[in-house]
Amino acid sequence: MLRLACFVLCTTTALAWGPHTEIAQAALDAMGPGDPLAKHLGADTKCLAQYVWMADWRQQLLVRADEVFYSDDVLIFPAAAKHFQHICPEVRQTYAPYFRRALQALRTESPRNAARWIGSLIHFTTDTGSPPHALGILGPTHSKMENWLDAKLIHIPGYKPQLLGMDDAAAEAGFIRRMEGLIEFSKQRAERCRADVDGDRRALVEPVVLESALETTRVTADLLHTLGVLAARSIGDASLSGQIIAPKTNHPTLSRLPVKIVLAGTTFSTLSEAGGSFAFHHLPAVEFRPVISTPGRVMELPPVKLAAGAAMRLDSLDISKDTAGNLIRNPAFQLRWVSAEGFDHWNRRKPPARLAGASPQIDWEGEWIPLVKGITYQLSAQWQDAAASGEDVQIFIRTKARPVYESPPGESAALTPGSPELRITGTAEVAWAQVIVRTRKSPETVIETIRFHSVP
Ligand SMILES: [Zn+2]
Repeated sequence: MLRLACFVLCTTTALAWGPHTEIAQAALDAMGPGDPLAKHLGADTKCLAQYVWMADWRQQLLVRADEVFYSDDVLIFPAAAKHFQHICPEVRQTYAPYFRRALQALRTESPRNAARWIGSLIHFTTDTGSPPHALGILGPTHSKMENWLDAKLIHIPGYKPQLLGMDDAAAEAGFIRRMEGLIEFSKQRAERCRADVDGDRRALVEPVVLESALETTRVTADLLHTLGVLAARSIGDASLSGQIIAPKTNHPTLSRLPVKIVLAGTTFSTLSEAGGSFAFHHLPAVEFRPVISTPGRVMELPPVKLAAGAAMRLDSLDISKDTAGNLIRNPAFQLRWVSAEGFDHWNRRKPPARLAGASPQIDWEGEWIPLVKGITYQLSAQWQDAAASGEDVQIFIRTKARPVYESPPGESAALTPGSPELRITGTAEVAWAQVIVRTRKSPETVIETIRFHSVP
């Protein structure tokens, strides 16, 4: 068990292309503070050197001094309803949707939210330039090849970032061409150094991998510069803002979680600021259906019709009551903004092979919730179909000690229509909990709502 744990963790560390931060920083340095993107993002420009890791933080709650948010709120959206691999060929599918979404965020959302979306985009961009990602090699060769370089050498002084296209469509096509060029460039480097990697001749490998890192930096600088230039071309001139008083929870971290606001039927979404205020700028003049999501509550607001040039401010909305301390987002499976096949804030996964039967079982994985040491939490459910048996649906809790995506989880007993609630207490080992619904049916047909809350 312990050996398995170590293996999983070590593999994880080794599979990450080391210099994401250095590449993003060197690209920003080459652009300089006068670049349109840096001007647009202002103080949040520097966040990109961290947010460039975003896609490696999938299915995590990110907790920092000045922010708390679920990474999937800037990784999963209607044009990218699942997590993609960061290696060729699959990573190619990320370029167009995340490029458009990042550009949309620059135009319509706060600088901080825009920086988060750009972080997701440039994670896929920079991962692609890693030689083993470009060539699509896994295993020990992969890890050595992408980590045998001195990240301190990543600088591109004097490089002038290129505009990849004059308008959105041209820039998107230009970006994809630039990425195809980067794949070709890094594939050649991978082929050139592969024998030296396998022969453990690190000194010969490093300069070749550095060439890829530098080309990746130039591509990143081009991309960021292009986004900054295009951000100024607006797609509309209406705005929509408001303030939401979120449910009070006594949870020290989740009480800092922003409210998510999505405009149903569009790719527009945003996360609120600390006090619950939110704003969309430069929206087209059409009718929108805002839906808000917080722990314990999803609420659809009346449709709003925006006139061209209008600045509509919604009445402040207090939804602080009636969630009974529930820490689960989308607890009644109402919100299906991302996709009609899934449920927002729930990740769909096939369970382990031994459980595969005639009709496929699906694990719906809830979001990871941090537990406070010494506090007891209770899981309960209201059943839609009380006649359903444990065969049809099981609800259980997975726990882990660390927030990282791959850390090996432990599982609780299952809650079924016949069993009472489940309780767990936070400890050093049981520091994170995730509610899983394992079922052959669509969960909302069996379960009315799930509640996970602290008990006194
Ligand atoms: Zn990655």
